[in-house]
Amino acid sequence: MAKIIAIANQKGGVGKTTTSVNLAACLAAKKKKVLLVDCDPQGNASSGYGIDKSALEQTIYDVLIDNAGEVDIREVIQPTEFKVDVLPANIDLAGAEVELVAAISRETRLKKALDKVRDEYDYVIIDCPPSLGLLTLNSLAAADSVLMPIQCEFYALEGVAQLMKTIELVRNNLNADLNVEGVVMTMYDSRTKLAEQVVAEVRDSFESAVYKTMIPRTVRLSEAPSFGQPILYYDKKSKGADVYMKLAKEVISRG
Ligand code: ADP
Ligand code: MG
Repeated sequence: MAKIIAIANQKGGVGKTTTSVNLAACLAAKKKKVLLVDCDPQGNASSGYGIDKSALEQTIYDVLIDNAGEVDIREVIQPTEFKVDVLPANIDLAGAEVELVAAISRETRLKKALDKVRDEYDYVIIDCPPSLGLLTLNSLAAADSVLMPIQCEFYALEGVAQLMKTIELVRNNLNADLNVEGVVMTMYDSRTKLAEQVVAEVRDSFESAVYKTMIPRTVRLSEAPSFGQPILYYDKKSKGADVYMKLAKEVISRG
C-alpha cells in the first residue's frame, strides 16, 4: 500500500516541482514503485519527465472531473523511461479549480481515484500547485503526509503558517490522519549568512521535521527540466543527483 506524500507550499518557485520530480526518480532508483501525480496546471512535473503536454489525450483533469465514473485512471497514467509512472497534467487542469466548485465530493476526487491504484505502488508523490485552492485540498485529502519545500531566502516562512492552518483544516474535516512528513530546505547557498539564518529559523519552528539533507542551488538542477529528465539521468554525478538521492534515503528511513 503506497505512502502518499503531497509536496506542498502555496508559494511559487520554492522547489516543489523540482523536489517532486527528483525525489520520485530517486525513490524509483532505490527500487521503490513510484507514481508521480502532477496536480499543477503548469504541468512542469509532466514535462520534467519528457511528457509532451500538448499531445495528451487525457490528463488528471479528466480523472478529477469524471462524474460518471467513466475515466480509468490506469489509462491516464503514463509509464516513463525513468522507472516512474506519471499521472500527467496540462493547462486543462486550470478549469478543474472552477468546475469542481459545484461538484459532489469535490475535495476527495483525487483520493477516490488514487485509491484504485494505491496498492500497486510504494510511493505516490503529488506535486501541488502554488495555491491553497481545490487542487491542493484534493492533494491534502488524498495524502498521508505533507512534505514542505522551503526556499532559503528572506521571506522563507511567510505563508507557512497559512499552510499549517490549511493542514489543520484538512485534518478536522477531510483527512484526520494527515501528517507533516518533513521540511526540506531548497536553493541553499552555503556562502551566504542569510541562508544559515533561514535554516536556523526553520529548525526553530519545525525541529526534527527538517531533513538533514539540504538542496543547494545548482545550475544543473535548473537545466534538467528543459531536457525532460530528472537530474539522476541528466547528470548522474552532479551534486543535485547526490542530494536528492540522500533525501530519498531520509524519506525511506522515516518510514
Ligand atoms: P515550484 O514548483 O515551487 O514553483 P520549482 O521547482 O518549479 O518551484 O522551482 C522554481 C525555479 O527554480 C525553477 O526554474 C527551477 O528550475 C529552479 N530551481 C528549483 N530548485 C533549484 C535548485 N536547487 N537549484 C537551482 N535552481 C532550482
Ligand atoms: Mg511547481
